Amino acid sequence: MPTAANNADLVFRQVRLIDGLGGPSAVGDLAVTDDRIVAVGDLTELPAARQIDGTGLALAPGFVDVHTHDDRALLSDPTMGCKVSQGVTTVVTGNCGVSLAPLLAQRLVPPMDLLGDTPAQYFHDFAAYLSALDGAPPAVNALAQVGHSTLRIGVMDTLDRAATPAEIRAMRDALERALTAGAVGLSTGLFYAPAEAAPTDEVAALAAPLAEAGALHTTHMRDEGDAIHRSLEETFAIGRTAKVPVVISHHKCTGSANHGRSTETLGLIDAARQSQPVGLDQYPYIASSTVLDLTRRWDARRIIVTWSKAMPDVAGRDLDDIAAALGCDREEAARRLHPAGAIYFTMDEADVRRIMAYPHTMIGSDGLPHDSHPHPRLWGTFPRVLGHYAREVGLFSLEEAVRRMTSLPAAQFGLTDRGVLRVGAYADLVLFDPDRVIDRATFETPAEPAAGIALVMVNGRAVWQDGAPTGNRPGRAIRLGELGPKGRSVLPC
Ligand SMILES: [Zn+2]
Repeated sequence: MPTAANNADLVFRQVRLIDGLGGPSAVGDLAVTDDRIVAVGDLTELPAARQIDGTGLALAPGFVDVHTHDDRALLSDPTMGCKVSQGVTTVVTGNCGVSLAPLLAQRLVPPMDLLGDTPAQYFHDFAAYLSALDGAPPAVNALAQVGHSTLRIGVMDTLDRAATPAEIRAMRDALERALTAGAVGLSTGLFYAPAEAAPTDEVAALAAPLAEAGALHTTHMRDEGDAIHRSLEETFAIGRTAKVPVVISHHKCTGSANHGRSTETLGLIDAARQSQPVGLDQYPYIASSTVLDLTRRWDARRIIVTWSKAMPDVAGRDLDDIAAALGCDREEAARRLHPAGAIYFTMDEADVRRIMAYPHTMIGSDGLPHDSHPHPRLWGTFPRVLGHYAREVGLFSLEEAVRRMTSLPAAQFGLTDRGVLRVGAYADLVLFDPDRVIDRATFETPAEPAAGIALVMVNGRAVWQDGAPTGNRPGRAIRLGELGPKGRSVLPC
């Protein structure tokens, strides 16, 4: 027995242990006491208060959802059924430039409405947001970032221009306070209206304190279509100038003219990785989802409305059908629905697979928990990678799929004691059926829990069991100070 433990709270017996590092799995036992894994191996002789027969099942580290918009859902829906039902035990919030804290003004502009409708739902102070999570803990662990657009809205009277030096100083002060409180990084959404006028220099200047604090930078890039090459170069330049690891969010090649360009983008990422830490994440679908933006040219085969303030009943319907019913074109229909959100079918399956097969690609759902008819990625992302892309398509082994969701994001974000099955690590665990696990959320019925996820534990306590949330809320707001170095490169064993 590879440990001094002489009894345990719980032992999983005869289970296929997928340790998260990507190497071959093996059948064995794993013991948990309190919130930690205390033994792994042949534990036949180890007595335990409770035992679970894992015959035919796999046990993996809990999945890390590196790209979420769960900032407010952690407080408003703390059992987090959409995530724990997939085996997710840790989420990273504050993505795409949008975070629930620190909002320094009493106003909101899109796409802040992805997180909440009113400023009262936001937090002025980042420390207060983390304290709120401590006081009313969610089911999952959370790492929270600061959004660049949230900062801009707080300190700038108009957003259609570059920030002045004084405004950059004010944003840096707010960012530094948030980092001290425990924010793990700064995200940008240069694609979106509140930040598209921000030049590269503004972001690089703002990102400067990240290096000293040991934080990282994630980005929804300015352009994921025709100018994606330039946006990648901009992202790398910000990382080099600020000397921080960068993560390219939800990497994709959007628009039919750009289908196939993932060969080029992955080549650029590979080249940049020779001299600086660059990471990336992806959700496993050919459609994106965000606010319904009236100012953009849409190059989408199909658009599904996910919510509408003006016409709530149309959530879930195709924009073209709504337009036909209203007797107008897509653009006019969108105007009448506004403010609203939508799903856009703009990607090519071959790009999705090529990006997923790239060994440094992490998995992030980008789920939008407040949408009335959400993109199925909110409920389906992780089981879809395991069941569809690993088992059915054979894009990689199950062990490798799990690595993308566990040790790889743990190394990227500096989680030193999660994302791996080993003695001493936190008992964030997923017990699942490798032959049955699959997403069931579809574009038509998006809020369906996945099949094949038997039991999910966070910090040693069950959060999902027998097809339902347990109601336990053992999650923790993990502070920057608890994390190790970011952006480490980890390859399959
Ligand atoms: Zn985004």
